[in-house]
Amino acid sequence: MTVELTLAKPRRPEAELRDILSDAAARFDDDADPLELLPWFGEQLGVDRIGVAVSFSDGVMACLGAKALPGVDLLFGDTGYHFVETLGLRDAVQAIYPVNVRSLKPELTIAEQDHRYGEDLWARDPDKCCAMRKTAPMDAALRNYDAWATGLRRSDHVGRAQTPLFHWDERHAMIKINPIAAFTEEHIEACIRKYGIMENPLKQIGYRSVGCSPCTRAVLDDEDERAGRWSGRTKVECGLHL
Ligand code: SF4
Repeated sequence: MTVELTLAKPRRPEAELRDILSDAAARFDDDADPLELLPWFGEQLGVDRIGVAVSFSDGVMACLGAKALPGVDLLFGDTGYHFVETLGLRDAVQAIYPVNVRSLKPELTIAEQDHRYGEDLWARDPDKCCAMRKTAPMDAALRNYDAWATGLRRSDHVGRAQTPLFHWDERHAMIKINPIAAFTEEHIEACIRKYGIMENPLKQIGYRSVGCSPCTRAVLDDEDERAGRWSGRTKVECGLHL
């Protein structure tokens, strides 16, 4: 069973957090093992001060978070538009791993959004839809932590090619850790096999990157991994990582 986020904790001073980042830079190379990197940040900050953002496109970040930081909060943007397969993976992760899945709800239900902005806002103004249903709830949740970890990878698309392993996140004024930044799709597959990680069943039918159902399609073998996200549009990010 997933739970709502009700935390409210003060953040450590920025200078202390930046010192921790400097220590990390001296200690870890760019190819650091996520299962060494994340526990180190857990020791410096406390597990309860780190939120791990997960999309349940697969179970990799959930598994690594559970192994590295038992008891950690997994932050899931529960937009109301997810595939049932994605929600099933979320529930399985909560049942199996030692984690707290925090399902972050938008302020408006889909019905309320339809009433205020018209039906299928995602088709007319996906940036606005993402801002309300994905970004705002995550931004609010992140205020409760000193650091967040994400599943961003440099191979996702060209806009993420320079993703650092960890850095100061100016927008959220906190530490951002991208422990699998250097992973390719092959690394992900190897990680899944090594740890027996649960996958989103949609992967079996060509969904190599899974987001909200109205904005995701299966991809062809010769297409990019994320070509099925907001297909036919110039949009490639929900806005959370801009
Ligand atoms: S991905 Fe699509 S449905 Fe989901 S929040 Fe963004 S625009 Fe809305």
